[in-house]
Amino acid sequence: MARILAGKDVVEALREDLAGRVEALGERGVTPCLAIVRVGERPDDVSYERTAVRRAEGLGVAVRRFELPADATQAQLEAVIDEVNADTAIHGCLLFRPLPSQMDERAVCDRLDAAKDVDGISSASLAGVFADTGEGFPPATAQACLEMLDFHGVPVAGRHAVVVGRSLVIGRPVAMMLLARDATVTLCHSRTEALAEHVRAADIVVCATGRARSFGPECFRAGQVVLDVGINFDEEGALCGDVDFAAVEPVLGDDGAITPVPGGLGSVTTSTTMAHVVAAAEAAVR
Ligand code: NDP
Repeated sequence: MARILAGKDVVEALREDLAGRVEALGERGVTPCLAIVRVGERPDDVSYERTAVRRAEGLGVAVRRFELPADATQAQLEAVIDEVNADTAIHGCLLFRPLPSQMDERAVCDRLDAAKDVDGISSASLAGVFADTGEGFPPATAQACLEMLDFHGVPVAGRHAVVVGRSLVIGRPVAMMLLARDATVTLCHSRTEALAEHVRAADIVVCATGRARSFGPECFRAGQVVLDVGINFDEEGALCGDVDFAAVEPVLGDDGAITPVPGGLGSVTTSTTMAHVVAAAEAAVR
């Protein structure tokens, strides 16, 4: 049976680390604070916001919520971002996307101060990931993948990582982060030919396509480590990943490992965001 890489163990380890750091900040009179900016009432956003607030409260991270109606203007949202940037008591900002179509999303993301960009959405933060400039933070989900591998002692250097999906939210940044850790990286996408062959050749696979259970046993072999980033709903409305977990897990064998959905990378992403807020607060008082 493949090793199940559970998110809760990583979350617990991050919690222990962050508890001490939040306490140390408290002794200096600083409470790390996350601004959550939501435009409209998309159920996914509202649900993730609830989870993030709970996680923040459990860690002693304060939350300031900024809510705008779905028909808000670009100027209204930019005014909120300006307020977040100017408020020295706020250390990080989580902006739910996609933004409504009347808004220029790139302009809004780039308005956010990179020092507070705890989810790696600004061009400055992405440059930090791609060109190693040290500015901003990597996207939280990409960071969660590395946290998962590190916590479970999966070596990265010299190994072949195949990432499927090339969005700026997860695919491209995680590919760059694996490359920075000396993996040999193949980045696949919807136009990739012989996708299953590429995936089967990997030591480490990151599936980030948003296609429910689309990676079946034909894509895998024994001994691989599979990170399933997908958060999808199947035809019955059940939460599932990109990988057909039940069919794939046996193929990976005793030497293989796989993240479940739910219970895998999703919860680690929330903790990673909090870790970035705490790091931003530490940087602000340094
Ligand atoms: P996008 O839709 O932005 O990107 C999907 C990527 O998958 C694209 O690069 C696309 O290729 C590629 N793709 C689509 N179909 C195929 C295919 N048939 N074969 C190979 N590649 C394909 O999605 P995101 O990157 O935003 O999200 C991906 C998944 O990760 C979603 O399920 C999302 O819910 C989940 N997610 C999970 C998070 C977490 O916390 N765990 C956080 C963020 C996202 P192309 O570029 O050619 O179109």
